[in-house]
Amino acid sequence: MNPNLQQINGVYFFVMLITSALAILLIRYTVTLRRYLKEFTRVSKKVSNKEFHTRFNTYVKGELGELSKNFNYMIQIMDTTIEEVKYKHLQLTSIVKSVSHGILAIDVKGNILLVNDVAKEMLKCDVEKNLEGSNFKFIVKDKKILEIFQKYVGSTQNEVIELELKDNLVYRIKIDPVYLQDSKHAIIGSIINIEDITELVKLENMRKDFVANVSHELKTPLTSITGFVETLKINDEMDKDTRNHFLDIIEKESNRLKGLIEDILLLSSIENGQDLSYEQVKLFDVFKEVYEITDYIASSKNITVSYNFEDEDVSILGFRDNVKQIFLNLVDNGIKYTPENGRIEVLQHYDQNKQNIILEFKDNGIGIPKESLNRIFERFYRVDKARSRDIGGTGLGLAITKHMVKSLGGNIEVESILGVGSDFIVTIPLEMK
Ligand code: ADP
Repeated sequence: MNPNLQQINGVYFFVMLITSALAILLIRYTVTLRRYLKEFTRVSKKVSNKEFHTRFNTYVKGELGELSKNFNYMIQIMDTTIEEVKYKHLQLTSIVKSVSHGILAIDVKGNILLVNDVAKEMLKCDVEKNLEGSNFKFIVKDKKILEIFQKYVGSTQNEVIELELKDNLVYRIKIDPVYLQDSKHAIIGSIINIEDITELVKLENMRKDFVANVSHELKTPLTSITGFVETLKINDEMDKDTRNHFLDIIEKESNRLKGLIEDILLLSSIENGQDLSYEQVKLFDVFKEVYEITDYIASSKNITVSYNFEDEDVSILGFRDNVKQIFLNLVDNGIKYTPENGRIEVLQHYDQNKQNIILEFKDNGIGIPKESLNRIFERFYRVDKARSRDIGGTGLGLAITKHMVKSLGGNIEVESILGVGSDFIVTIPLEMK
């Protein structure tokens, strides 16, 4: 063979060999790349579906291997970061949910970022409904609350407003700005705290009324006492009868003051929790003591006090002094508000299921007008102020009685017809809950 031809064949063979090797390498690379791209598509699809636990499984060397390692690392970081954010959000919502006040976080545009169930209830919204993302303008129905939100959400001021709403509700609404972290200027919204202070306001008003009433009640006899003392001092020549009459008034007013102070102290000691010990109190025995004390006053008006105890051995667990005071106040009122020659009856029986003891204090006295029936247990309420005062009433007796009955887990009611008589009914559970 021609040596030249032989040389050409050699080169040709060599080129073919190289080309085949390159082709094999290219095919292998293409296969690997396709497999890699397929895996990449699979993983990226899962990641976009928020399945962050997924990982690259294809093992490749070189730069692609490095890329998949970095990609896996990136997914892992995303996974842990998202878990952390989720946990933080859960923590925050749990904290907000467990706060007993209504809490709302609102952005500057008025969109609700966070709201707890208490706030939903207070704003009369459906507790089941997810309000996050909604604008408060479409959520808050009460006009007064809406006005406050519109005025102060997004403001830099800290505001506290007390609002009187329908149904006698009183809310304290506190609105504070939320600043972007570390910035004292960029406000991103407001945090609103709503507190239902209806009971608190009621108690405060009651306290104010009580103080005003006490001052008034104390002032009246004191003015009278000082007036008569002054008159006695400047009138040396006064005749004995007038002098004695004035002294009688001073004595009566002093007794009234004493009774008033005793009743106020008693009321405050019940409210502050008395330092008394519970004991088994036999109701009939206590009643007999009261009967003996009041018999003299009843006889002086020729009033008959009769009684009938279905069970003379029945006893309850309570404070003996309080039980005695209940009997004393109700029998004493019967005598006070029943004209001469009247009748008073004290009855004890049980209710149908024998769960409760019923005590009744009936009289055929002056009775109570219908409109006063639900007010007579209020402190200082008297149907006829002058009459009550005249017979030594303080207006606190029934308030004290009601408190004491409640402390036994019981209840007191009244039925009365004006001019016919009254029936005070005390119900006490046999076993105190
Ligand atoms: P008071 O010291 O004035 O008697 P209470 O709290 O005991 O105060 O009673 C409040 C008011 O209820 C009385 O002033 C009276 O008008 C009315 N009241 C109480 N008990 C009777 C009764 N048995 N009959 C008629 N009215 C009564």
